[in-house]
Amino acid sequence: MLQNESSQHVSDQNQPITVAKFGGTSVADYEAMMRCAQIIKNDSRNRLVVVSASAGVTNYLVRLSQKNIANDEQTKIIANIRAIQVNITQHLSTEVEQHLNDEIDTLLAQLAEQALNQSLQYSVKQADAILAFGEQFSSRIFAQVLLSIGIDGAYFSVQQVMKTNSLYGKAVVDIEQLKSACNDILAPKLTKQVLVTQGFIGQDGLGETTTLGRGGSDYSAALLAEALNAGNLSIWTDVVGIFTTDPRITDQARAIKEISFGEAAEMATFGAKILHPATLIPAMRQNIPVFVGSSKEPEKGGTQIKQKVDSNPTYRSIALRREQTLVTVKSPAMLHASGFLAQVFSILAKHELSVDLITTSEISVALTFDSPSGSTQALITSTVVAELEQLCEVTVEHGLSLVAVIGNGLNCAKGIGQSIFQTINDVNIRLICHGASANNLCFLVDEKDANKVVEKLHHELFSF
Ligand code: ASP
Ligand code: MG
Repeated sequence: MLQNESSQHVSDQNQPITVAKFGGTSVADYEAMMRCAQIIKNDSRNRLVVVSASAGVTNYLVRLSQKNIANDEQTKIIANIRAIQVNITQHLSTEVEQHLNDEIDTLLAQLAEQALNQSLQYSVKQADAILAFGEQFSSRIFAQVLLSIGIDGAYFSVQQVMKTNSLYGKAVVDIEQLKSACNDILAPKLTKQVLVTQGFIGQDGLGETTTLGRGGSDYSAALLAEALNAGNLSIWTDVVGIFTTDPRITDQARAIKEISFGEAAEMATFGAKILHPATLIPAMRQNIPVFVGSSKEPEKGGTQIKQKVDSNPTYRSIALRREQTLVTVKSPAMLHASGFLAQVFSILAKHELSVDLITTSEISVALTFDSPSGSTQALITSTVVAELEQLCEVTVEHGLSLVAVIGNGLNCAKGIGQSIFQTINDVNIRLICHGASANNLCFLVDEKDANKVVEKLHHELFSF
């Protein structure tokens, strides 16, 4: 019997639901999944569960989605993925284990076939189909883990509602379609059962599988929360919330109890990548509070991200992002001329390069770029440089880190510059961005100085 009839977890239809998202480490193994199931059980508002792939699985799938992978490596990877998943299912009842393993093996056979095709003839479309398997496994398994502790959980294929364009690898979701599909298909089911669905994946108009980009499950969960008009979005991960800075840099770092959307958005963009940077956009549009906590230690609480917070300190946190590229473009023709920046940006847009920081002087412009996560490839290719050189002189520098001081009123409070820069007056600062946002002041330093800068600043601004 796969269904459990004695569910205590009944929905109150007048109460807004919570969308709960569990990241890869939260669904990594059976113990982790059980902790998550308990979290669902403890709060009956949790009606929709969005899962990532079990930790490590998507990385294996990335390898399988690449060109020219030898057949024996493919076989090994598929065996490793199977081992991760059946290590979980073996803890369920024999009947459920058998049923799940059959489903897993059917999916793995499809995966093997697609991986083989991919190694013979690569396509981005097929890469997405391969990448999407991880969430297919974890969501099926987690639904059964819920049933095993008496929650009426069921698997739901997100592809029924998460319709996207065909930009494989970073597909764009059709939000209006998502809303109406959630209304028609998902919401009625949620009144009856707790549904477990996949983050990260979608489906295009041709019925092909798409993905939203690495780490995209947070964003999927936020979009679903928005479409369902949820009361809360909980992001369960392996840290007890958002910290004042990366605890690996200083042991003085501590978890932040509450933070405004504006500050958290800056942190998600410039910070330690706890949240996918786009996550807060749907939450802000619909004013849905977001909770970030650890599924390992739910009793420790976490960080509440919301529109209105009780305190608005000048300094909330310090974020650090490594491996930044600084591009300086210089052209005497820019003097009193118009349209130069537009030309520079149109080249960057053509190559889909997104600029983070920008400062300008009369004849030069400095721009910074983040390196794509999980990739070491040069972002600013020789082609991009050559195209920019048609317009101006170009200098490209690597080995820099971006330090972002996040807080409130940073664009106008007195003495900000002094307290920050006096603390680190022995360090070479490459670029400063100040004034565009009340929530952020950021600058670039040499990679080798980065930890020291953050440690000193944290000590200066946060020890009281
Ligand atoms: N499983 C996907 C990844 O590892 C999506 C996610 O975890 O958010 O990138
Ligand atoms: Mg993740």
